[in-house]
Amino acid sequence: MGRKHRTLHALFACCATWGVPQDPPEASVRHLANAGVLLQSGNSRVAVDFPFTGGFDWAVWPTESQIGAWLRREAPFDRLDAVVFTHDHLDHFDPGLVAQGLALRPETVLVGTTRVLQRVREAAAAPLRNPMFEARAGQPIQLKGLGILPLKAPHARYWDIHPVTKQRVIYDDGYIHSAYHITLGGYSFLHGGDAHQIDLPPGTTADLLLLTRGVVRGLGLPAVKELHQRMGAQHTALIHLGPTEWKTLEVAIQSEKDWLSAFTERDLSIVLSPKSHPTRNLPPSKVVPKARLPVPATEPAPGPGHPAEAGHLR
Ligand SMILES: [Zn+2]
Ligand SMILES: [Zn+2]
Repeated sequence: MGRKHRTLHALFACCATWGVPQDPPEASVRHLANAGVLLQSGNSRVAVDFPFTGGFDWAVWPTESQIGAWLRREAPFDRLDAVVFTHDHLDHFDPGLVAQGLALRPETVLVGTTRVLQRVREAAAAPLRNPMFEARAGQPIQLKGLGILPLKAPHARYWDIHPVTKQRVIYDDGYIHSAYHITLGGYSFLHGGDAHQIDLPPGTTADLLLLTRGVVRGLGLPAVKELHQRMGAQHTALIHLGPTEWKTLEVAIQSEKDWLSAFTERDLSIVLSPKSHPTRNLPPSKVVPKARLPVPATEPAPGPGHPAEAGHLR
């Protein structure tokens, strides 16, 4: 009797589970610094364009505690499925830090441009065991519970000081750069890195767009809104945005806050709720944009070797 009862109970439990569609868990994106974000859903966690230590005076830099957590394998970097880099500019990527962190996390996958992978290998004290994938536009990287699609996205125009002539030189799309479409936990994210233009396969959708603040200046707000709508996004957040630049965009962004936020500070986050997952035709967005007015800049000064003069043209 007791045995039969247990069997029936087990059957009921299994069928009840089968019969109820499971919502995806919540997903979140947390701003780390500059264009660096942490994407998380369920057990999946991916860092994009982090860690780095260099940057420009206007940018949001990583803190010592963030870098310490990366180097000691502490939260939120205690468990990472992948670290992904759009390019090897110093305000997105530090090869020495990446190599040290990957050595502590041999299971973590590295995805980046040819130069990112090359520089990490060169910086490593000993050969790394981590799986590494070179970003090739249109060629998807499929990992357990995680999909990463590199997208063709030339770097926005920027300037630098020529090493020989010491003159200011404008570079135009010459830098090797990749944007990414990342799927985890039933949600999809577009990270545009430093690009103003991204080649999207027709019909590409994403729940959350992370775009450099330059797209608003380069393409204009209507074009960004059109992209947001075309991709069926719940929300768009501007990255690569310092407190000074925020002031020039604040009015435009405030009037569009239903769909647009700005990551002007570390640890701002946006939560995507299963109740509003657009692919499920459920009620409109329940996104919680937590963007607030920026605090005064207290960024560290550039360290030795950082080209403090260099910057981005917008
Ligand atoms: Zn760059
Ligand atoms: Zn940059």
